[in-house]
Amino acid sequence: MISLIAAMPHSAFSMLPCYHTRAAIDTFLIALEHDDSSRNIVHIDTIGYSRGESLGESYPIYAIKISDNADIDEDEPASLIIGHIHGEEVVGLELTLSYIWRITHQYLSFLELINNTEMYFIPTMNPDGLEIVSRDLDDSYRKNGYVPPGLNGRPCVVTGTGSDWCGVDLNRNFGVNWIYGDTLWQPGGQEPFDYYRGPAPFSEPETQAIRDFATLIKPAVSIVYHSSRTGNFSEMGITAWKWGDDPGPYKFSPDCTAIGRLNGQYCVLLPKSGTTGSTYQPNFGGTRNGCLQDWFYWKLGTIQILTELGPPTQVQPSCSTMQRLTTVQFYSSINWINGRPYNVRREGPTPMVIHTRDASTQQPISAEWRILDTWSSMLAPWYTDEQYGSAHTLLASQGWVHIMARKDGYATKTDSVVINPNSVLQGITLYLQPLPRHQVQIVLYDESHNAIAGRVWADNGFPKWIDVPAGTGANAELPEGTYHFIAVPDDPQRMVLWHDVYVGGNDTIVFEAQQAAQRFYEDFASGLGNWTTGGNANPWRLEADTTAFAYGNGLVFTPTGYREQYASNLNAWISASTAIDLNGGNAAYLEFDRRGRLEMPYDSLYVEASTDGGTNWEIAARFCDWELPWTPAYVNLLQWIPNSIRLRFRIVTDATLGDLGLTIDNVHVWTGTDLAVPSQPEGIAYTYRIHGSYPNPFNSATTINYEVASVGAVTLTIYNILGEEVRRFNERPVSAGLQKLVWDGTAQNGGILSSGLYFVQLQAVNVRITHKLLLLR
Ligand SMILES: [Zn+2]
Repeated sequence: MISLIAAMPHSAFSMLPCYHTRAAIDTFLIALEHDDSSRNIVHIDTIGYSRGESLGESYPIYAIKISDNADIDEDEPASLIIGHIHGEEVVGLELTLSYIWRITHQYLSFLELINNTEMYFIPTMNPDGLEIVSRDLDDSYRKNGYVPPGLNGRPCVVTGTGSDWCGVDLNRNFGVNWIYGDTLWQPGGQEPFDYYRGPAPFSEPETQAIRDFATLIKPAVSIVYHSSRTGNFSEMGITAWKWGDDPGPYKFSPDCTAIGRLNGQYCVLLPKSGTTGSTYQPNFGGTRNGCLQDWFYWKLGTIQILTELGPPTQVQPSCSTMQRLTTVQFYSSINWINGRPYNVRREGPTPMVIHTRDASTQQPISAEWRILDTWSSMLAPWYTDEQYGSAHTLLASQGWVHIMARKDGYATKTDSVVINPNSVLQGITLYLQPLPRHQVQIVLYDESHNAIAGRVWADNGFPKWIDVPAGTGANAELPEGTYHFIAVPDDPQRMVLWHDVYVGGNDTIVFEAQQAAQRFYEDFASGLGNWTTGGNANPWRLEADTTAFAYGNGLVFTPTGYREQYASNLNAWISASTAIDLNGGNAAYLEFDRRGRLEMPYDSLYVEASTDGGTNWEIAARFCDWELPWTPAYVNLLQWIPNSIRLRFRIVTDATLGDLGLTIDNVHVWTGTDLAVPSQPEGIAYTYRIHGSYPNPFNSATTINYEVASVGAVTLTIYNILGEEVRRFNERPVSAGLQKLVWDGTAQNGGILSSGLYFVQLQAVNVRITHKLLLLR
């Protein structure tokens, strides 16, 4: 017995008795469930379990809901408070438990909140870390109970900062920008290191539980509590985001104006400890490293405020300080944060609920929604929920906001609403018209009309791959509309084919994939002797290794070091010296493999072609990928037939932030013959016309739907409000009828254009038609 005690790790302090251990939380929740005043408005869920490996046991993660009719999900806005994520930072846990107790025991004071919102509380999302700290195994422990492979007797959990080989920092494990890790990231990734991000995004059961629960409840607003052992970030409210290294320039989140205002209004209510009159400092999070508040906003649209509690350097303040803090924080945080989704105080930004419904059945449907005025393509798609078809947001500014909802199988719907300041929850319902659905058979033939295997990319705004089996072809039920199809036979020697088809009835779509002739091939096995670089830098090099974070085995543009990123303001290209002859058929395309990351949507890889030996270049395709494993790219070169072309890759980056870069490999150019006539509905006489553009206004890309009377060249030119040409597309539709063109708001040189009114002009023989486009950055 004595020797056991002597062997126990000793630490500077023990958990004070006023703090809840993990087991004491269980007792607290049992009391809450049985208490007369709380049990009717409280619902407790176990939303997951901890990793628990280093402790030999995993523990439940609880979510407590306070609302009227707590056992059912009502169509009410939700808020979420997470009390504890880092083991040693136990203050927020106490705040959260005290909030729950106070609301349920003074519920008459909170009836408006209880009746009109759903308040969720997760006292701890890291019970392993709490257990390690409260058992006094390591009072500075931060992470969960993950045990890395190959521990080989190394110390798992050790007193003192930075020496634990075990554990994942849960606030570095979320699935946005996880790849960077922390600034203290170590090359091997398994060192004893307090900020270890884990082996993969969402590798940990704790972060999976939070991800899945948050995706279900979709909180409009959220707080996550931390406290700072160094005091560096103490007494701050940190929101998403202001990415970049000091002193900038930075890149702010699309909704930073509304988010910053909310955070300011929150922080001004939180007095700093010890300094009379001064309040918490609002700030935007500057790092890109897999943390919660970035993920919540990026994935769900939730405004989450990471609150670094004070007093500075006190991760476990004295009992009297802690108890004073719970009172002060309660009245400011609860009134502000939990009041926001319904605007209980009738001040500040007005919350809004967006409903999406099927226009014919009137039933709620889950659809993707955007506020067009602030949306950016870098955000994940946000969806209304399944049960009520609703989404709650605080992003609406005053005045007009434009809302769009879209779903495959429905006509996209845009509507606008005037937001009045200082009012309670306002709503708008978007009724989406279902589109007729058609049975479409898709067949890939060889030259003998045997149906061969492959897959077809079907893009009607909701792109998907359709597998096409040999022998029978594929039967797909497709909503009516214009589709951009790319047929890719399994046999790499056969033609990849592009057809734009209006699916307006039950139909058969035939691709005839003949043998392709290879006109160019480069696997970079023998160096870059055949390539010339140019532009304002030379970021290109070859790399053969395949380490986890340095993309390799091909043509690379990225720095060599770990976590290093390509430069800002690049306009640099690499062009093949060989002339590529496209004469010899009616179809030609480029195929290459790529992987890696560009800063989406601001940095671009362009594929360009020149017919005059490299003096003038035309854009064949633009790529802007965020996180990508090896993926084939197909670029139609139809418009350059029958010329001889030169080919180049060009990287254009904006003035802020870089990223890890891309690797390019296995570059092919093929030519051949496309015999199949694209299917069109019969009896329709086409004319030249622009049907409209969608979305309009747009933020990062718009699709221009136009119609051509016959096969042949048309030019679509974008002009700014001064009448200056900013971009030109030379199109060559392969059939009469509906066509589409996607414009990403960039100029001919790849530069990002600013907000404003633009015009697209369609020009063909004796025809000139103009349409307005409103770009809102
Ligand atoms: Zn923390």
